[in-house]
Amino acid sequence: MTILLLSDIHANIEALEAVLQQATGHDTVWFLGDIVGYGPDPQACVDRLRDLQPEHWLAGNHDWAAVGRMDVAEFNPEARRAAHWTRRSLDAPARDWLWGREPLAAAGEPPALLVHGSPRHPIWEYVLDASVAMDSFAHFEQRIAFFGHTHVPTLYEERVDGALRHPVEEGTPVDLASGRWLVNPGSVGQPRDGDPRASYAVYDPVALSVTFHRVPYPVAATQDKIVKAGLPGRLAQRLSFGW
Ligand code: ZN
Repeated sequence: MTILLLSDIHANIEALEAVLQQATGHDTVWFLGDIVGYGPDPQACVDRLRDLQPEHWLAGNHDWAAVGRMDVAEFNPEARRAAHWTRRSLDAPARDWLWGREPLAAAGEPPALLVHGSPRHPIWEYVLDASVAMDSFAHFEQRIAFFGHTHVPTLYEERVDGALRHPVEEGTPVDLASGRWLVNPGSVGQPRDGDPRASYAVYDPVALSVTFHRVPYPVAATQDKIVKAGLPGRLAQRLSFGW
């Protein structure tokens, strides 16, 4: 039994296809939100993910912003432009579908928590440091929570003296059999840890382990589409650097 953990696809179909080509044979998909926003292929990504019939499909802040369920006033100008463009690029069933997603779910056996942002504020809080991670551990009951939103593959373990951030190593299973954990698989479509390759993880709820993976994709193809769509050029450039 293995579960493909995906987050922050951000309308990047090339990155999503590269992940799906490498990550085969898993029993199901848990998606942690932000299928759209920033990228040039929102409709194709919604359709492709729907084909996979994920067991869980969370909303992210960009998903809600694109369909008008959340105000885009808090977004930076680039994200706001992309949100308006995304809304026009989605068909009505896709907009309805995204409107109906929630940013939090209880999942699996043993029970795990899935959130887009953080357990405390599932839609918008970023778990970017040990102090927010420690606060986060107080806001869920399960042993393991999976989150997205930061676009950084991350692993925190709860310790009595604080949240310990473990280094993320590609391809090596991390033992989650004891302790409490916060796990972020990183971003498929817009990594922000300085590595431009698409990021994802595989969770094994029987062995109780998680394994992080990276896969290259044709970045230039996505960048061309972003420019041709008239989206802000910086959204294309940042993909080269994974930032
Ligand atoms: Zn995101």
